[in-house]
Amino acid sequence: MRKILILGAGYTGMAAATGLVGRLKHRDDTHITIVNPQLRFTERLRLHQTASGQTLADLQIPDQLDGTGVDFVQGWVTGIDADAQTVRVDDTHTLRYDTLLYALGSVADTETVPGVDEFAYTLNSAHDAALLADQLDRLGDGPVVVAGGGLTGIESAAEIAEQHPETQVVLLSRQQPASMMGEKARARLHAGLARLGVQVRAGADIVKVMSDGVALADGEVVPAQAVLWTTGVRVSPLAAAARLHVDDRGRIVTDESLRSVSHPNVYAVGDAAAIRQSYGVMHGTCQSGIPTALHAAASIVRELNGKQPKRFRFGYVHQPVSLGRHDAVIQFTHADDSPGRFYLAGRLAVAYKETVSSSPWTTYRLIRAMPTVGAMTWRRGGRSSQ
Ligand SMILES: Cc1cc2nc3c(=O)[nH]c(=O)nc-3n(C[C@H](O)[C@H](O)[C@H](O)COP(=O)(O)OP(=O)(O)OC[C@H]3O[C@@H](n4cnc5c(N)ncnc54)[C@H](O)[C@@H]3O)c2cc1C
Repeated sequence: MRKILILGAGYTGMAAATGLVGRLKHRDDTHITIVNPQLRFTERLRLHQTASGQTLADLQIPDQLDGTGVDFVQGWVTGIDADAQTVRVDDTHTLRYDTLLYALGSVADTETVPGVDEFAYTLNSAHDAALLADQLDRLGDGPVVVAGGGLTGIESAAEIAEQHPETQVVLLSRQQPASMMGEKARARLHAGLARLGVQVRAGADIVKVMSDGVALADGEVVPAQAVLWTTGVRVSPLAAAARLHVDDRGRIVTDESLRSVSHPNVYAVGDAAAIRQSYGVMHGTCQSGIPTALHAAASIVRELNGKQPKRFRFGYVHQPVSLGRHDAVIQFTHADDSPGRFYLAGRLAVAYKETVSSSPWTTYRLIRAMPTVGAMTWRRGGRSSQ
């Protein structure tokens, strides 16, 4: 029996599991196990909604896997022995694998600035987002500082401002927020933030987070009753500790088929993988992560059938940003994620954003029923289907 072990049941781990189930349904010589700490699926794309006090659908991972034959193990992966091909869970038991699919995602990087771990909130999990929601309920008029002008920071600032109109929200960023967008889309996005009352301050270099505010490099202290940290991400140290070849950010470096360059029986997908394309190393998004997972699932099945896995190719399509529940901006992009000429805003953009971040459960059911079609979806910039 060939043992396929998937670490992490987030967006990509679940996509890989369902892709494998769809492709392996007529075989009885493989066994799939997936490990995740929570039973409930974390809709990470919507954690800013949780943080602002909204309730999300209760998506239970075991329900989705019911009837598929996939074993769900609830627990934290605490170690990987890549030579023995084993994984430790909760430091209490060991799982063996023939093929490992590493999909542990990423979390907010809280180690760059002193005080972040102690005083700032994150969107690392539904629990962390709920802690901020509780604090926001107690706050009154704030102020609340959102640190980081990337898409997560912008979405969070807008959502908090909309759900808590009495609270002053300050978005602090080193660069101009949404600097990755084209000029027109960015201007529209800033107008949307202004309409919600978000105070945007670019050029802010935060050097310390305290219980009552943040200190900037120029000595100014910006008062805050809550600080949300969204300035960048880091990955689990497990891959590096297992001596898998990783990049300078700890992500597993893959070959063109998404296998670890040092350990070819390990596939890496999503935020935890450093995947090179013609335009550079991909950055973590769901948009790109799910195609990596589907490609890895297809490649594992090709190898089981004695064939070589194919090359993965991906091009970005959009940068979708919600501005609360009633506004959004979608910047359409070139394959390398640089902004294209077109963008959408307002109600049409809200509908678009809702579609692309809708519950993945329906997508997973589709992938299970039609795994080959699934692997062709979201493809751009070349052939990657298998
Ligand atoms: C607020 C917010 C909004 C976003 N919006 C968008 C968007 O609109 N579009 C987009 O494309 N991307 C968006 N992203 C980014 C997107 O969420 C990530 O790129 C995506 O979730 C990556 O998928 P993943 O499977 O690699 O990781 P995840 O979805 O984070 O899954 C990782 C899983 O691994 C588990 N795990 C971690 N460590 C361990 C361990 N040691 N043992 C066992 N399990 C473990 C985690 O609990 C989790 O279930 C957003 C992110 C945030 C925070």
